[in-house]
Amino acid sequence: MKYISTRGKAPVLNFEEAMLTGLARDGGLYLPETIPTMSAGEIAALSGQSYEEVAFRVMRPFIGDTFSDDEFRDIIAKAYAGFGHAARAPLVQLDSNHFLLELFHGPTLAFKDFAMQLIGQLFQASLKRSGNRVTIAGATSGDTGSAAIEAFKGLDAVDVFILFPHGRVSEVQRRQMTTPGESNVHALAMDGHFDDCQARVKDMFNDFDFRDGVRLAGVNSINFARVLAQVVYYFTSAVSLGAPHRKVSFTVPTGNFGDIFAGFIAKKMGLPIDRLVVATNQNDILHRCLSTGEYKPDGVIPSISPSMDIQVSSNFERALYYAYDQDGAAVSQLMDELNAGGFNVSQGALQALREVFDSGHCSEEETSATIRDMYAATGELLCPHSAVGVKVANETRNSDVPMITLATAHPAKFPAAVEEASGRHPDLPARMADLYDRPERVTRIENDLAAIETLIRDRIAK
Ligand SMILES: *Cc1c(COP(=O)(O)O)cnc(C)c1O
Repeated sequence: MKYISTRGKAPVLNFEEAMLTGLARDGGLYLPETIPTMSAGEIAALSGQSYEEVAFRVMRPFIGDTFSDDEFRDIIAKAYAGFGHAARAPLVQLDSNHFLLELFHGPTLAFKDFAMQLIGQLFQASLKRSGNRVTIAGATSGDTGSAAIEAFKGLDAVDVFILFPHGRVSEVQRRQMTTPGESNVHALAMDGHFDDCQARVKDMFNDFDFRDGVRLAGVNSINFARVLAQVVYYFTSAVSLGAPHRKVSFTVPTGNFGDIFAGFIAKKMGLPIDRLVVATNQNDILHRCLSTGEYKPDGVIPSISPSMDIQVSSNFERALYYAYDQDGAAVSQLMDELNAGGFNVSQGALQALREVFDSGHCSEEETSATIRDMYAATGELLCPHSAVGVKVANETRNSDVPMITLATAHPAKFPAAVEEASGRHPDLPARMADLYDRPERVTRIENDLAAIETLIRDRIAK
């Protein structure tokens, strides 16, 4: 299995290299050259299997000969052993034809654990074999960072540096990043927004001296191995509702477009997905782009669903790559235009996107109202991100095709917003009840590439 860049000018890599590299050297994102498919019979045979078994069968064709079957099964088993639910991704019914896919039973209570726990084990297995060390740098709007720290803490071949926007993540998110005591974990609180943090990480990857000097590796959602891990729960949930014999649709609370892009891959693999619905909060650049074709960032407005407070949605580039018939030069040009302020999607490409994706957005008031109403109607407490999904799903769904809305975080990760909307305080699961008592360790840093690079060089030299 070969991996190629969305911009067409980076070296072709195998799965292991693409995973360890993250961002391609031409600034693009890696994708498999061809997407493996599963027959209806193979999909039907997933019914009744454990999450781990489905994960093995769905992901196996993508990893080539990087790991033997036994090694890969072992990696998957370790990745999901720390989850607090036997089904890993249980499906809960909300209404006659509406289901909630609970993706928050991992160690940091957000769906990011599905990918990050797997990638931690993949890195560990790969680096153990090669004897190499890497430096992981990531930007986070809250959930990626905690998931990465939880997945990589204490691993000997890795240092992990996470940039988060100072004062703009929830207390639970911050504490999950600042309380692990392992010395290979470095939480950096940067002045600015998530987009600034993400831009500095991209700058580090484009500074090849630095990148090669510290052996930089990326685990942001641009890493294809993360997208791949997320493909699995589209299969487990669709099969529980009758796929491949029945179509299903998904609504996905969206920021960086990684989670919903995994649904796109599942569809390309042969899973009968009818619609993939992009749900945005008031930072609705993706909804506007899918409605009008214009992609023009205009500043982030902080919301009660902070993990979706994004204007530059990295993985959207992957969807554009397919919408432009895999034309790397066209994608490259759009991204140059984006650097200069924005771009317009061509009519043909917009039509291709709309064949797969619908979209909607949700205001702050609508988010709170959805949390309140869903609690009253079902007793289910939604986190604000999941509420954005449910609101948009309710506008889009019909009685013909079951709708699955992805619940991307546990309500206790955002207790203030949830309590204000529902009147009920969401409790942390017992296994992390002492989070507020653990000591914190964090470094404040300005929004300055040179300062960040110096800090990383100094820390890994020790
Ligand atoms: C990361 C995140 C999202 C957005 O997912 P993307 O893959 O970036 O689109 C939504 N909700 C929560 C809780 C998240 O942590």
